Amino acid sequence: MKLEKNKFPNILNDQFLSIPELLKVEDKFSIFAGPCAVESYEQIEITAKKLIQHNVKILRAGAYKPRTSPYDFQGLGKEGLRILDAIRKKYNLLVTSEIVDIRYMNLHMDHTDIIQIGARNMQNFSLLKELGGIDKPVILKRGFASTLEEFLFAAEYIVNSGNKNIILCERGIRTFENSTRNTLDISSVAFIKEYTEIPIIVDVSHSLGRKDIVNRVSKAIKAIGADGLMIEVHPDPSAALSDKRQQLNFLEFSNLIQEL
Ligand code: PEP
Ligand code: MN
Repeated sequence: MKLEKNKFPNILNDQFLSIPELLKVEDKFSIFAGPCAVESYEQIEITAKKLIQHNVKILRAGAYKPRTSPYDFQGLGKEGLRILDAIRKKYNLLVTSEIVDIRYMNLHMDHTDIIQIGARNMQNFSLLKELGGIDKPVILKRGFASTLEEFLFAAEYIVNSGNKNIILCERGIRTFENSTRNTLDISSVAFIKEYTEIPIIVDVSHSLGRKDIVNRVSKAIKAIGADGLMIEVHPDPSAALSDKRQQLNFLEFSNLIQEL
């Protein structure tokens, strides 16, 4: 890929805030943790308490879930965002949740701190432009069939439309390898760090789709210089309504945080 400055006038030439500056958090390597989906108030509350025990400040959970099958759990929607809003206020946490449609922008603006664009919407250009018009931080996830150039163009759309509060998120790409859910392209982190100032985190859960190698891979993510890690954690993964196999239980989560 040729990173020509005139193709990316904003993201290559601009300065960007680091995650600690953007989110007003202390940690240099930020953890974004929480269940795949909001399932109930109790589930989010007990998870929030676990995060706080480990000094983790950013809670992730989907309210609107983009599911491959229309027959799978689609998320609690508005009710899910209300739960996240209540929990962030009660426990002084930052919450992030994926937006799947422009129509929900006001809801996300009112109920969450950081807006996530999922892999499936990385090239939803009207959504990207809309996010340029707000000032909340945006997590832009890499599409699972997107090149780095396409990823950066998507970021360019948001910045070009006026929002520089952006965090990139590598989450694995689809390859012939099937021992992991996706193939983690860890070189993307090195690349982004080498050529841009935009912070980048890695979603280890959706990259791997399994738990047995999460700790090793998470250490590699930290070692290569990523700005943070996204990890799915659920009070009872076997009963989760989505992504059962990849969500850590609380003990596994505690071990991971300690190892890191
Ligand atoms: C998620 O983070 O909840 C998610 C659905 O991830 P992705 O968009 O990377 O598949
Ligand atoms: Mn998930």
